[in-house]
Amino acid sequence: MTIHILPPEVASQIAAGEVVERPASVVKELVENALDAGAKTISVEIGGAGRTLIRVADDGAGIPADELPLAVERHATSKLLSADDLFRIATLGFRGEALASIGSVSRLTITSRPADAPVGARLRVEGGKIGRVEAVGAPVGTLVEVSDLFYNVPARLKFLKQDVTERRAIDALLTRYALAYPSVRFKLSEGSSLSLQTAGDGDRRAILAALYGVETARQMLEVTSEEEGLKLSGFISPVALTRSNRKEITFFINGRWVQDTPLTQALLQAYHTLLMVGRYPLAALFLEMPPEEVDVNVHPAKAEVRFRNPDRVFSFVQRSARRTILAFAPVPQVATQALWGRSDEGRQAVERGPQGDAAWILGHDADRGPLTVDRTQMPEDGSPATVSGPSSTVITQQPMSSNIPLLRLIGQVGAAYLVAEGPDGLYLIDQHAAHERVLFEKLMAQHDQKHIPSQALLTPVVVELSPASARLIEGQLAVLNHFGFEVEPFGQNAFQVRAVPALFAGSDPAAALRALVEDFEEDETPLQNEIEAKVAGRVCKRLAVKAGQVLSPEEQRALLNELEACASPRTCPHGRPTMIHLSVELLERQFGRKGAR
Ligand code: ADP
Ligand code: MG
Repeated sequence: MTIHILPPEVASQIAAGEVVERPASVVKELVENALDAGAKTISVEIGGAGRTLIRVADDGAGIPADELPLAVERHATSKLLSADDLFRIATLGFRGEALASIGSVSRLTITSRPADAPVGARLRVEGGKIGRVEAVGAPVGTLVEVSDLFYNVPARLKFLKQDVTERRAIDALLTRYALAYPSVRFKLSEGSSLSLQTAGDGDRRAILAALYGVETARQMLEVTSEEEGLKLSGFISPVALTRSNRKEITFFINGRWVQDTPLTQALLQAYHTLLMVGRYPLAALFLEMPPEEVDVNVHPAKAEVRFRNPDRVFSFVQRSARRTILAFAPVPQVATQALWGRSDEGRQAVERGPQGDAAWILGHDADRGPLTVDRTQMPEDGSPATVSGPSSTVITQQPMSSNIPLLRLIGQVGAAYLVAEGPDGLYLIDQHAAHERVLFEKLMAQHDQKHIPSQALLTPVVVELSPASARLIEGQLAVLNHFGFEVEPFGQNAFQVRAVPALFAGSDPAAALRALVEDFEEDETPLQNEIEAKVAGRVCKRLAVKAGQVLSPEEQRALLNELEACASPRTCPHGRPTMIHLSVELLERQFGRKGAR
């Protein structure tokens, strides 16, 4: 074949492929246009999961009749004048591509009327062929109708998923936009079924229920944080509420839904050591920042951004989220069923947490009703926050470690759990998980002060490992030695341990070394800055007292005191709970003394 310029229809279909991938991407572009036009009401109607029909009606500024033909041309926009403007974009659109792209792969009709026009105007585009503008009666605003998407690109049609999947993508998209723009009224319907309708009254938590369900929405923690031009708002889940993937993590940056952002990582770091391995939080977070600090012109679908100062944004998001999580961290309570002998269900309720029972409900105290945090008094730096309930009881809460009150030791059960009494009931403490947490925090504190005392062994210990494990340890020697171990290669696949961190004096050094190899294999490559905490967590896990180990009363008391001093006493470094709380109220209910359920 000779080199030739592609016919315009082909070129525009190629370009369209980048913007319009599926029905949901059409909805996204049209909704963004409506938002850019200042609409207060946006109504989306779909047919055939968006394949046969997508109609988006808005009450925004409208398009003047004489500009209609331009609106559907490629690179035609009213939002950008010069290349300089690219670096301070305040609108969602700016590439002037969406309508042209949609018009080249569907039958497109735009009907629009600006407020100052006596009548509306209508323009049809079919497979890229632009028709003539006609005058029609129309309300102020714009109505865009897209029929038979991809009718002229059968290859694309084949890539569409089942109807349910495409419909879910549209649902998810619109719900997220509704959440990002709570002052705009959104409506989504297919035929006679209405799947979303928002009030446009600015109340985000009500919309949150549409996204996650009522129960989950109620438990989400509200984030509000502001710092030198950066502002973060929205919701994140408490530690007890997780998913097995990151799909429920949503970020909007300056009103734009952004996927694949490093901010997801920042959020995950905020939960570090608080979630079980393989569990992820839910989040809908809205970041506002000066437009010139963020480059939105990275990808045609505008779903990626670059920050001018990524570290600053990253750390701001991480700190803001962490502060919120710690301020609300609860001591898990036992679900009611757990005490009624339906032990399996009960255990599940505890493990599943939020979907379960009255247990795990955050910030909720059965006696006082829902707790509310007075945000005006919410400190930025980890000093005490004031939490008050409706009955005017005001409790002062230390965000860092407040939720574990001073406990009176009662004893040990099953050589595995400590039993203690607090001002508000009974606490069962998993001795292994608690000790893990204590060791971990001590080790990391010494590490942060760059001084980890080390203790030489009287007789160095030689540890032999399998070749694969030996390779893994070799890679971690520097980290190990940094933590106060003295470990050296000692012939093939063997290592000599000459010293251990003083914290672990008296424990089995070979066990510590072996602990490190255990789950390395299945681990995805950890982030560099997480390696140290991971290594530390693993060593602590191995060296902490085990279940089955009888502790003397002194040892029990010491462990309890040390746990009380921890910054995150409620979970072990791997995210399992260290304690279960049976409140007096719960006991009273179980004994039939109070409002039986
Ligand atoms: P962009 O949004 O990047 O400017 P589009 O192809 O999406 O490009 O839209 C082209 C132009 O059409 C916009 O710049 C805007 O002036 C006009 N437009 C599109 N949709 C609407 C709408 N719903 N209300 C008002 N004007 C609109
Ligand atoms: Mg647009």
